[in-house]
Amino acid sequence: MVTGGVLTIFVTDKKSFIMFIFDAHLDLSMNALEWNRDLTWTVDEIRKSEVGMTDKPDREKNTVSLDAMRKGNIGICVATQIARYVKKESNLPGWNSPHQAWAQTQGQLAWYKAMEDIGEMTAITNLEQLNSHIKLWEDPTSKTPIGYILSLEGADSMVTIDHLQRAYDQGLRAIGPAHYGPGTYAHGTNSTGGIGVKGKELLKKIQELNLILDATHLCDISFWETMKLYDGPVWASHNNCRTFVDHNRQFTDEQIQELIGRNAVIGIALDAWMMVPNWVRGKSTPESMGVTLKQMVNNIDHICQLSGNSLHVGIGTDLDGGFGKEQCPSDLDTIADLQKIPQLLSDRGYDQQDIQNIMHQNFISFLQKTWS
Ligand SMILES: [Zn+2]
Repeated sequence: MVTGGVLTIFVTDKKSFIMFIFDAHLDLSMNALEWNRDLTWTVDEIRKSEVGMTDKPDREKNTVSLDAMRKGNIGICVATQIARYVKKESNLPGWNSPHQAWAQTQGQLAWYKAMEDIGEMTAITNLEQLNSHIKLWEDPTSKTPIGYILSLEGADSMVTIDHLQRAYDQGLRAIGPAHYGPGTYAHGTNSTGGIGVKGKELLKKIQELNLILDATHLCDISFWETMKLYDGPVWASHNNCRTFVDHNRQFTDEQIQELIGRNAVIGIALDAWMMVPNWVRGKSTPESMGVTLKQMVNNIDHICQLSGNSLHVGIGTDLDGGFGKEQCPSDLDTIADLQKIPQLLSDRGYDQQDIQNIMHQNFISFLQKTWS
């Protein structure tokens, strides 16, 4: 088994170190294909290429690239496929048929494969690949590929349950049944309702394939129905605590306790509206609302206090997940700044083992257990 220690590089003395980081939620291919961002560029190069663009609110404010991930020693991530299907009466953005949504996710997969072809990324789908990738990152170079676990955010693109088998064969290893609004298989954020017959079928297939169920975005009713029916591996890739921001997108303490009881790991996200109450999209600024990485540490600490240890929380930033620097902690310029978190945790009294657990080991151990 891999221990955390080998992944910590001490820079000068025993006090300053660079920690290996596992980010459990990044919409990389969405940025490549819908924002037209070449993620092999530096963050600055991407920003320069977007000067004057007004089609999206986060133009020139991106924070993620594969280059920045290497600079920040973020050697593994959970990378998403994401495409919503919306019914005619819905006013959410999305595709008008599940077939279009499926095709969109297939394009996203093609981008990940193209990154593999040029050695920028490498797929991690089993224990052997995971362990050898971690070995590689014990001594990384400027060219070491970023490892990714493929995850589907919202299951609407599963035209039929059989598509899940096809997706698994393509390397899919985690899936969240819902995203925003009512979905085919569950009700997501800002909607209310259960998982229905189709959701139950999906859960059965998820468990049969030993896929990881991502509890993120399930509305309360769908969350508890899922917990009742599902017995396989579960994590929450990017989710914060309702105690800080009272919204259905956030977990109640009861939900967190349920997940802890199932040995889940919860990744803490960096979307500003989930970090401080009363954020107004497009109006509030990180500076005016005092949003910094400190709130991430508060969320981490809250989960550690509920579990009585540091074993159930990690990092799941969602950076560039439809928002950029305008809606990020003000002390983060690029994803490489995640390296500030270990010090903040240390200042809060966390020891080195705790910090390693949070920064990478909890998600790594979760995968090792799930795949062995
Ligand atoms: Zn999300």
